[in-house]
Amino acid sequence: MTRRSTLTRTGHVLAIAGILFSGATAAVAAEPSTAAPAAVAAPDISVEDVQAHLQELQSIADTHGNRAHGEPGFKASIDYLQGQLDAAGFTTTVQEFDFFGQTGYNLVAEWPAGEASEVLMLGAHLDGVPNGPGINDNGSGSAALLEVALTVAEQDLQPSKKLRFAWWGAEELGLVGSTHYVDSLSDEEKAAITGYLNFDMVGSPNAGYFVYSPDGQPDGSAELQQPLNDYFDGLGVATEEVEIGGRSDHAAFADAGIPTAGTFTGAEETKTAEQAEKWGGTAGDAFDPCYHRSCDDLDNVNTEALDRNADAIAYAVWTHVGG
Ligand SMILES: [Zn+2]
Repeated sequence: MTRRSTLTRTGHVLAIAGILFSGATAAVAAEPSTAAPAAVAAPDISVEDVQAHLQELQSIADTHGNRAHGEPGFKASIDYLQGQLDAAGFTTTVQEFDFFGQTGYNLVAEWPAGEASEVLMLGAHLDGVPNGPGINDNGSGSAALLEVALTVAEQDLQPSKKLRFAWWGAEELGLVGSTHYVDSLSDEEKAAITGYLNFDMVGSPNAGYFVYSPDGQPDGSAELQQPLNDYFDGLGVATEEVEIGGRSDHAAFADAGIPTAGTFTGAEETKTAEQAEKWGGTAGDAFDPCYHRSCDDLDNVNTEALDRNADAIAYAVWTHVGG
């Protein structure tokens, strides 16, 4: 998650609306339940496996100082994910770009099965800020997405569309990697992408359960968003709609007219008393008190929020393209 106002390489100011929480509760399940919705046979993603990826990212940050754009810890993060995805049978590509005189990298992994004419994309930014390991922001989204991708492979999913996962570079410097990727696509390639799901901060320690607002988001899509909301409904976890605006990578896709959706557990904003009542945690504290700080480490993750979001991502994949 980048800061509120973001200046891109071209000097274009992206949406500065920042984050506007809607007062309304988007979805409250009638009957609380611990079971996932039964209609779709989506797998339960192992949170221990997601945490194991986070441990790898932490140890990369420990070795290299951070995982920021232009630093060896970022390339090491790319290499770790690519190794995992290659071993699982994905077709991976590392796209290079230049920013501030440093080479940046996007990792794109496509599952070989599936009809090629339509593509469902899911993405998370893999870079951190220079002054911390970047575990919640955004090791959490990156690791959850990685484990969902590995589960696609493990289950040998035969999707109805092409499934393409992406991990972006230089998000923290203004959505640079994702913007570069979208700019590199032909009109035909853009048109083939039926939707883009974004996961940026999904394990905030004082977690909120936010879902992207289809109305407030540039090119937000209620249809694309629905399974994510349904998953939390099925758990009996109330969600609130949020407008991320230009603060994360879905903006590059939205600018190209591609429908977007996603989930988010909160950054530097303060949890209200009402939110603490429905979600637990501490009213008056930030959702992530370590946002962009050195303390954004392995201890800065709410395991339950991480688990639920990883399962929600899988539920969305299986609902949209699943077998
Ligand atoms: Zn951030």
